[in-house]
Amino acid sequence: MVATPIGNLGDFSPRARETLAACALIAAEDTRHSTVLLRHFGIKTPLVSLHGHNERERTPALIARIAAGEDVALISDAGTPAISDPGQALVRAAAAAGLEVVAVPGPCAAIAALSVAGLPTAAFAFEGFLPPRGGARRRRLGDLAAERRTLVFYEAPHRLREMLEDGAATLGRERRAVVARELTKLHEQVHRGDLGDLAARAALEPSLARGEIVVVIEGAAEAETADSAAADLDRVLRVLLAELPLAQAARLAARLVGARDNEAYRRALALRESDRSSDDPAT
Ligand code: SAM
Repeated sequence: MVATPIGNLGDFSPRARETLAACALIAAEDTRHSTVLLRHFGIKTPLVSLHGHNERERTPALIARIAAGEDVALISDAGTPAISDPGQALVRAAAAAGLEVVAVPGPCAAIAALSVAGLPTAAFAFEGFLPPRGGARRRRLGDLAAERRTLVFYEAPHRLREMLEDGAATLGRERRAVVARELTKLHEQVHRGDLGDLAARAALEPSLARGEIVVVIEGAAEAETADSAAADLDRVLRVLLAELPLAQAARLAARLVGARDNEAYRRALALRESDRSSDDPAT
């Protein structure tokens, strides 16, 4: 698994180049794209295409060649193969066949962006690309609202503005975030701010949304996690209280959301109380 540059050719490591020059075959996501890179470095190893649509069908022949003693390298268009790119099926098949899989590590846009973001990196969640359609994207962001780890996304430039607007709406305008674009390239830029700012800037400055982009967003604060757990408990309790006696609704809700029984019971009483007073015509 050989990493290639994400822009700057100076990031192509000597070991990556030697490996690609010495192996019997290079499986590449897009052979035409990779030919340009390999030609530039005088690497003449034969190429075969391996992309999302033919990975399953091509894998057995590649595994047979490796099993016969040949070294086969996998590269993607840029960065580290199998990271939001094809390659996992080949790795799984090779591992299942008892063959050695070796990482020749190097550039990866997600890691490069995290390293310059200035947001916590002790724990992070790499989310790859969000769903392209608005509804599904907002649902996924909503699912991540209570995530405490720093979030890392790849995003297409024409969707950046909507993604930041949806992020501001679902995660909060004040969440710190970073838009890292064109990393290692001539027009590299790292924009820092909160989601509200960055969404407004993306609407006003089209250049913010040009080229290749990683978005890094800080994780939820402890209070937000607690708020969201309380909101989950209330939501489940409301559904169950409409159908079941209070004690049973509280017990089930506690089990469903992982809350304590006495906490669920206390909330159930409070919700019933507030429903009664809002139904009471005197209030
Ligand atoms: N396997 C690659 C890696 O290791 O980074 C990622 C492949 S993914 C299909 C391509 C996405 O990575 C782009 O749409 C963009 O979000 C991000 N990306 C790639 N190169 C980048 C760069 N130079 N600057 C910022 N983001 C980049």
